[in-house]
Amino acid sequence: MTSTSRDRDDFFAAMGLRPIINAASHASRLGGTRLAQPVVDAMVAASQTFVPIAEMQARASDLISEFMGAEAGCVASGADACLTLAAAACMTGDSRAAMDQLPDTTGLKNEIVMHRAHRMSFDHALRLAGARLVEIGYLTSSSGAGAYRWQMEAAITERTAACFYVGMTLDSTLDFKAFVEIAHSRGVPVIVDAAPTQVPAENFRRWIDLGADLVACAGGKYIGGPAASGFLAGRRDLVRAAALQQQDAFVHPEVYAEPFGAGEGQAEPPHQGIGRVLKVGREELAGLMAALKLCAARDYAAEQAGRVALSERLARAIRERNFEAVKVKSDDPVNAITVVFDTPQRAARVVRELQEGSPRVFVLNARIGQGEIVVLPHCVLPEEVEPLERRLLEAIALAAGEA
Ligand SMILES: *Cc1c(COP(=O)(O)O)cnc(C)c1O
Repeated sequence: MTSTSRDRDDFFAAMGLRPIINAASHASRLGGTRLAQPVVDAMVAASQTFVPIAEMQARASDLISEFMGAEAGCVASGADACLTLAAAACMTGDSRAAMDQLPDTTGLKNEIVMHRAHRMSFDHALRLAGARLVEIGYLTSSSGAGAYRWQMEAAITERTAACFYVGMTLDSTLDFKAFVEIAHSRGVPVIVDAAPTQVPAENFRRWIDLGADLVACAGGKYIGGPAASGFLAGRRDLVRAAALQQQDAFVHPEVYAEPFGAGEGQAEPPHQGIGRVLKVGREELAGLMAALKLCAARDYAAEQAGRVALSERLARAIRERNFEAVKVKSDDPVNAITVVFDTPQRAARVVRELQEGSPRVFVLNARIGQGEIVVLPHCVLPEEVEPLERRLLEAIALAAGEA
């Protein structure tokens, strides 16, 4: 039976929590994404029966391979967790001894080459494994190009374990094809952070098609899986090296079966590896597997049409009020509507008012400094549209009226 939004509110109220309307899209701080009923059902079913996790990871690998067009895959607690595993795999390969010493990288290839323009707080995940980041390119350049091929060629040395690309090409980065070509010409694998990649699956598959060796994907964003899930897809040998460092290794050597088949690599199990802290249970595995299967059946055109309709409705409602010192932009490819205020203070006032009032509404607050609030429709339910519109109009009226 599907629970009503009333039941859900009661559940949180019993814990002394006030739920929110999420108009900020998929955000870890707000709980990831909304799970479709088949995803919830899969998690509940899995929670009631035991199964060896390594076997479940192997089935997940099959599904991920199919979704991505990759050789293999494994599931961890998020895209960032997968980046830690990817960095570890590229530094250790199949060596149990190397796995055992991480994050101490003494004697190992431990450098990861990446664009300076791709540096972001999420790359802490790479450093967590013990890797040292080597930056190439500049953020801006008067010639237009922020990075040149010769810069990347010079940065790759015998210490390079991998090259890392964030799934967005910028003016200040090489395009992905050139990036892969240079890395591969030196025998270095390429890791991609595909957490910003949106469904359908073709967009994810593109990274593998263009030559990525390991792709880290978020389960709890556009794919619609549990918030604490993500997957790594790519070359079988590297995914195995990642899995070896994540899966629980308390298995006697007499009965140990290595992930992805006996006979490959070495027979003895590793000790608990650096990825052990990034574990997932059968609930996350089941939820992510159900979400991946569901992707094939989703009607993306209808989902998109729903978001466009919602964005247009909210934009119209705000424009009709003719607020002073307020503009609305709604031309964004992710169906965001951006409300622009004359000062950052006014934008901050609106965000605070939305978060504190009733019902509570969370919008994207990253652009307060530009005087903007951004409303994203991905996680808004049909029954939430009316209260969302009302709260937005109230909060904007309040802030717009203040000097
Ligand atoms: C969301 C995001 C991540 C983290 O994904 P999780 O699945 O939450 O770990 C990493 N990198 C980028 C660019 C992201 O947008």
